Amino acid sequence: MPRKRVLWQLYPSYLLIMLISLIAVAWYASRSLRQFYFDQTAHDLEVRATLVANRAEQFPIPALTPTDSLALQSLIAALGRATSTRLTIIALSGRVIAESSEPASEWQTQLSNPEFVAARAGRTGYDARFGRSFDQEVMHVAVPLQRNSTVVAVVRASVPIGFIEDALWEIRIKIGVGALLIGLISAAVSLWVSRRISRPIQDLRDGAERFAAGDFSSRLPVADSEEIGGLAESMNVMAIQLDDRIKTITRQRNEQDVILASMIEGVIAVDRDERLIIINRAAAHLLDVKPDEARGRIIQEVVRNTDLIRLITRTLASREPVEGEIVLTESGEQFLEAHGTLLRDSSGVSIGALLVFHDITRLRKLEHVRREFVANVSHELKTPITSIKGFVETLQDGAVDQPEDARRFLGIITRQVDRLNSIIEDLLSLSRIEQEAGRSEIPIESGSIFEVLSAAIQSCSRKAAETKMQIDLRCDQDLRAPINAPLLEQAVVNLIDNAIKYSEASTTIEIRAFYANSEVTIDVRDQGRGISREHLPRIWERFYRVDAARSRAMGGTGLGLAITKHIVLAHNGRVSVESEPGVGSTFRIQIPANRL
Ligand code: ADP
Repeated sequence: MPRKRVLWQLYPSYLLIMLISLIAVAWYASRSLRQFYFDQTAHDLEVRATLVANRAEQFPIPALTPTDSLALQSLIAALGRATSTRLTIIALSGRVIAESSEPASEWQTQLSNPEFVAARAGRTGYDARFGRSFDQEVMHVAVPLQRNSTVVAVVRASVPIGFIEDALWEIRIKIGVGALLIGLISAAVSLWVSRRISRPIQDLRDGAERFAAGDFSSRLPVADSEEIGGLAESMNVMAIQLDDRIKTITRQRNEQDVILASMIEGVIAVDRDERLIIINRAAAHLLDVKPDEARGRIIQEVVRNTDLIRLITRTLASREPVEGEIVLTESGEQFLEAHGTLLRDSSGVSIGALLVFHDITRLRKLEHVRREFVANVSHELKTPITSIKGFVETLQDGAVDQPEDARRFLGIITRQVDRLNSIIEDLLSLSRIEQEAGRSEIPIESGSIFEVLSAAIQSCSRKAAETKMQIDLRCDQDLRAPINAPLLEQAVVNLIDNAIKYSEASTTIEIRAFYANSEVTIDVRDQGRGISREHLPRIWERFYRVDAARSRAMGGTGLGLAITKHIVLAHNGRVSVESEPGVGSTFRIQIPANRL
């Protein structure tokens, strides 16, 4: 059913009540007036009839002589005229003895008329009925005419009463007009009253709608009426409390959002149907999903990773926390360590699962590097040891008695021991640099780059001279940077040493150092064999060699570039290399430095 406004519920009822009251009052008034007129007229007629009866007593009714009859007739006619009443004297037999207006012969049967019947019985009789001679309603009142307490005839007085109806109509019209006026006035008043009642309710409704829309700043006007005013006050208090609570909830939610968003760990929560309830930024990033689109959807539709799905299923089925590893393969291999726990509501009923995971890819890679490193070290150490052991055994087996061989073998053993020594020295210095850099124990102070490079060249000069290599240095003598001079010298020595090792004899090595973009750059360029592209990203790794046999033959340990890199990292710098096979390589060190 369509809903109606309070105004339209109140107003028609008011109008209806008013209309019924007006009609009732008008009807009652008109009836009372009519009755009043009737009673008044009847009383009048009774008085007249009684007077006529008194006057007529002097005639010897019913035994009238013709003279008496004429005298009575003229008396009645005179009285009738004088009182504008039709007067009739009727014998008990119903015969009209005298009549004020019409000839008596016209009047025949009066016997059954109620007024006649009552008067004949000694009472006053009344009746009102249509009278043909008046052509309208006529009222008759009859009284007994007595002689010696015996009813001898009936005196009847009659008047037409159409005038009463006419008068009543006039009054009814006046009442109608009055009622219409009162009706109009009260319609206006009741409209005003209805509005007065419905306006505050409308205000309440508007206010409640504003509250529902989240606008708690406005207040409801407090109406005069106790009920509606009280309701408005209660609603205002409710709005303040709601506002307060919503603000608290919003603040708490924001705090939670901020916490979740700032977490490095990925967090996801699913309900019992495995629908995603919460996913934080880190999880969305790791799993490559859009949080807004993913929320509310079943996890399988959002993330196609069997490890994750299996872990969620396991968590939902288990009472204990669950641990597992998730491997992501979308963008390279990524390893996540995940912990799952059941989410329970305040009554302890499980409502879903919470998964927290973090990226352990770096850890995994480090583990891999460590394992590879241990394998490499073992291998690097085992080669010279096997060789040493072989020659020692050969010597023991009798070669020691042949001085020529013995000297040769001892020479080989010495070289292998030197090799072992240099591997161990390199390993030690690498781990020392790493440790000290890790603890920021490497002293860094402003030093001359020119001096460092000159010293490095000096260290390699004998080896360079052996292969007739020329080393050119181009460096501003004033160039300075925050450095650890001995370490940086070792880094450059490693580069020069490599340039000598991997270049043909009599070529030139260029060393250039300059300042640009808040950095000191040191380039070591050779005209050697170069390195092909696929090896370039790995040559800084420990024990990585392009040509292991040549490296070993040249006395390389495979650790030189790794040492250089770690020294430069300890200076917050970086290393890079450009190389073209057959043309040469340029190794570059860049160290942050302010203009000195
Ligand atoms: P190694 O002791 O073997 O020289 P490094 O760590 O110093 O170990 O160098 C790693 C590898 O990089 C070398 O084995 C070599 O293959 C390559 N390499 C380094 N420097 C040069 C260079 N200047 N020219 C060509 N190849 C080089």
